[in-house]
Amino acid sequence: MVSAAVQRSVHTGGCQCGAVRFRMQGAPKDVSVCHCRMCQKAFGAYYAPLVAVGDAEVTWTRGAPKRFASSNFVQRGFCGDCGTPLTYEAPDGLSLAAGAFDDPSQMPPTIQFGVECKLSFVDAIPALPERATLDDLEDAPFLTDVVSYQHPDRDTQQWPEPTP
Ligand SMILES: [Zn+2]
Ligand SMILES: [Zn+2]
Repeated sequence: MVSAAVQRSVHTGGCQCGAVRFRMQGAPKDVSVCHCRMCQKAFGAYYAPLVAVGDAEVTWTRGAPKRFASSNFVQRGFCGDCGTPLTYEAPDGLSLAAGAFDDPSQMPPTIQFGVECKLSFVDAIPALPERATLDDLEDAPFLTDVVSYQHPDRDTQQWPEPTP
């Protein structure tokens, strides 16, 4: 039984450029990572983090995803302007890309799918050497002057925001 507070909970998100924004109200069915080859390709990644929305209500609050039919059953939604992967849409429901949420830390995964395609090195990634972005200033001095064009991790009235 999901608590009333969770049912009312609202999670927002969107693509990197801000042309597409969404709002999910309610508790998702589950949060997963999928290792299948189609998800690897659609996300350009080793696996896809997905929030299966279940009975939660999803609204596209700015723009809408473009879609590619990756099979006879599944559509993959993405921002047509910047390419951010946004959805996995199958006959059994809609999933949103977990990393596209404004606060992905709120939705940790609880299950892995498609493990027959899991890349052999994925489980070894946490043991790799670690560097913070600004540890590499010597090799990439531009990092101190970066101006982000990424949409902020919150809803905006207008985007790009007008300069004050
Ligand atoms: Zn975009
Ligand atoms: Zn998959």
